[in-house]
Amino acid sequence: MKKHDLIVIGAGPGGYVAAIRAAQLGLDVACIEEEEALGGTCVRVGCIPSKALLEASERYHAAGHDLADFGIKVAGVELDLARMLERKTKVVSQNTGGVAYLFKKNKITRYRGHGRITGPGRVVVEGQDANELEAKHVLIATGSSVAPLRGVTLDGDRIGTSTEALSYPEVPKHLVVIGAGYIGLELGSVWNRLGAKVTVLEYLERILPGMDSDIAEEAERIFTKQGIEFRLGSKVTGARRDGDKVFVSVEGQPDIECDRVLVSVGRVPNTTGLGLDTVGIELDPRGRIPIDDDFRTYVSGFYAIGDVVRGPCWRTRPKKRASPVSSTS
Ligand SMILES: Cc1cc2nc3c(=O)[nH]c(=O)nc-3n(C[C@H](O)[C@H](O)[C@H](O)COP(=O)(O)OP(=O)(O)OC[C@H]3O[C@@H](n4cnc5c(N)ncnc54)[C@H](O)[C@@H]3O)c2cc1C
Repeated sequence: MKKHDLIVIGAGPGGYVAAIRAAQLGLDVACIEEEEALGGTCVRVGCIPSKALLEASERYHAAGHDLADFGIKVAGVELDLARMLERKTKVVSQNTGGVAYLFKKNKITRYRGHGRITGPGRVVVEGQDANELEAKHVLIATGSSVAPLRGVTLDGDRIGTSTEALSYPEVPKHLVVIGAGYIGLELGSVWNRLGAKVTVLEYLERILPGMDSDIAEEAERIFTKQGIEFRLGSKVTGARRDGDKVFVSVEGQPDIECDRVLVSVGRVPNTTGLGLDTVGIELDPRGRIPIDDDFRTYVSGFYAIGDVVRGPCWRTRPKKRASPVSSTS
């Protein structure tokens, strides 16, 4: 049994920032992460790689299309996709390496494996660094995963998620994006700028559900001008792969033939196999861990942060606490 002041489960932006800050404030911190690289969805397969590709594809598109208006002639613009993806991978490893450096600098003990709560202040690590840990405080920062869509089975290749869409080995001729949230739209726009025909299927009658409707309307106008086709009010009922082709079934419409499908219909909190029941942490109706404004769950000694709790990750900072968590309190 290893003792620490704080155990953080998950090393995404919720977990790693908390771990580093707690260590800077003097706590002995352990962080359990099942992936080899630190940084979570955001750094490995989310915000960072998607923004690296957004920037690269924007530059490519500008060189080929937009600069002429400024009186700049660029001849022979060519896409080197392998190089573009290589740069994205490099940006990711610089960032994951940066988190690893900060863990080392702040003397955070990293355990590789799956963290499971077994009782008050107790967490087991299952996997590579198998161990039993004990601490007064436990922070759950396990993030979220891609939400499934009924009738569509992911194959990790032609029918995939944002993770696959960050690394397509060639520009799809026709990419169908299911779900007009920000993840589908940003990756749809990347591949559209690189030359793919992109069709976005959205169940609702608007894009960017949950976001300001004026901004969504303006965004739809801009994306349409860029060449993305929107089919709003479209209910996808299935996707069938046939060799290198995929046929997407939409209620009341003919099947759509394409060569890649990106399923991006939302994300769900990661709470399965966490052992929350062993300490009596109950989930809210949307499967998230309920917290107060100080990220405390309703079970003493347990905290939660990030995609596993309510609100977008850029939610307003909660009111300041009188004092930070201390190893003695
Ligand atoms: C393509 C894409 C683009 C995005 N772009 C943006 C953006 O521009 N801006 C923005 O704010 N957000 C963006 N997001 C969302 C952002 O990635 C998440 O909001 C953020 O990563 C949530 O952080 P987190 O720490 O809660 O969880 P995560 O980053 O998901 O990290 C959780 C970590 O916990 C680990 N884990 C889970 N369960 C266990 C367990 N039991 N034991 C051990 N480890 C475990 C996981 O392996 C993971 O590394 C994007 C997401 C995607 C997919």
